[in-house]
Amino acid sequence: MKFCQHCAAPVVHHIPPGDDKLRYCCLQCDVVFYENPRNIVGTLPVLGDRVLLCRRAIEPRYGLWTLPAGFLENGETTLQGAIRETLEEAGAVVLPEDCSLYTLFNLPDINQVYFFFLATLRHEDFHPGVESLEVALLREDEIPWDELAFSVVRVTLEQYFADRRDTRFPVRMFDLRHTPQRQLQATLTSSSSASDSIIPVPAAS
Ligand SMILES: [Zn+2]
Repeated sequence: MKFCQHCAAPVVHHIPPGDDKLRYCCLQCDVVFYENPRNIVGTLPVLGDRVLLCRRAIEPRYGLWTLPAGFLENGETTLQGAIRETLEEAGAVVLPEDCSLYTLFNLPDINQVYFFFLATLRHEDFHPGVESLEVALLREDEIPWDELAFSVVRVTLEQYFADRRDTRFPVRMFDLRHTPQRQLQATLTSSSSASDSIIPVPAAS
């Protein structure tokens, strides 16, 4: 950010009085431009023993498989955004009453938060949107585990197939962080299931 969105004066990057983080500030308007994590919302659509995946027609991760998901828009709830993305990317209609919150991921290294809703499909009716090369309903043994686009998709699918064997689908939150070896590591930090063991996460210093 170089210029103020209000008056077009050059902004400065400094720590405002009473704050402890670097912010873009317009000294002319006396306005601070806060930058906050972005929300990404999506669904895990299920029909019988199959889940719906999309193969990406856009970068990053062109050609790899993902769940329908995208950035939450202003004025939307997380569920509305997830349903919209499912229609846009997979041409699949899911109803709010067929959805329930399933996984939440904190990605503080890249300032993102992901929400996935478990969504029951009523029909085998879908088609790739402009951001998808193809859309497919896949059984567990058909999942292209080596060609998944994102760790959040892998963890959500792993949870789902494990939960299906237990026939219960608790809501879980994970923190995804890079290890010093640059590997992404998912840590379960909250669960609505009493039988999940939560690893305490140290507070950021
Ligand atoms: Zn200004």
